[in-house]
Amino acid sequence: WEFDAMLTVSNLTAGYGVPNILQGLDITVRPGEMVGLVGANGAGKTTLVRVLAGLLPARGGSITINGSDTTNVPAHARPKLGLAIVLENRNLFGELTVAENLRLAERAGANRPKKFDIPRIVEMFPAVGEKMAVRCDLLSGGQQQMVAIARALLLQPDVVIMDEPSTGLAPKVVKAILEVLRGLCSEGMSIVLIEQNIGIASSVTQRAYVLSTGRIVHHVADGGWPAFLHDPHLVSRYLGQH
Ligand code: ATP
Repeated sequence: WEFDAMLTVSNLTAGYGVPNILQGLDITVRPGEMVGLVGANGAGKTTLVRVLAGLLPARGGSITINGSDTTNVPAHARPKLGLAIVLENRNLFGELTVAENLRLAERAGANRPKKFDIPRIVEMFPAVGEKMAVRCDLLSGGQQQMVAIARALLLQPDVVIMDEPSTGLAPKVVKAILEVLRGLCSEGMSIVLIEQNIGIASSVTQRAYVLSTGRIVHHVADGGWPAFLHDPHLVSRYLGQH
């Protein structure tokens, strides 16, 4: 029921011109869940991330975080409500060091109940600890992704939206990152994992929404991944994969 939801997206519409790209999305995420959002190229995943982040306005419907209507809250104020977003391009301050990027996030999250500090982050991501004094634009893709996640956690969020965290990363690095995300969920954090790679999504999420041409066309329920993956019709129709 609504009361249990950490994130509720209700009949959400948005777009750039006419017609809308997002055509009335309904998504619910409860505390401690890792929920997938999968879909082929052009399905609208990035558009949804931009609306959740407050970078593109909703045209209709609503976004509720932890019981607060967030639909029209400006992007910079969303972290205060418990929402952190890790964008696909990672969006770090490249000319600042890792430590400087992390401290900025820590300050931005200072008004929220504290779950993460820099020592804990270093424990979770030892590779981040080794690069504290290095400029972010000199890091590898995997290191940048870890810093981007670390920065999101220092905002002390209740829900994290991860936009394609696996893009361009070696399988070993992806595995390490997913391991950390799983641990966070077991502590009650809610995560929305946006993924084009269905192998990754199905290995780590409990359930998932399938997005196609701006609509949720299918819901993979808890325990439903094996059946979904073995239905070639569903996979090829919605994801263009085999
Ligand atoms: P990908 O995985 O390729 O990023 P996606 O699922 O994230 O795909 P979106 O990037 O959200 O999909 O794109 C959804 C639709 O919106 C596409 O038809 C795209 O052409 C269109 N679109 C995206 N950005 C803009 C924009 N700035 N202006 C106009 N149309 C856009």
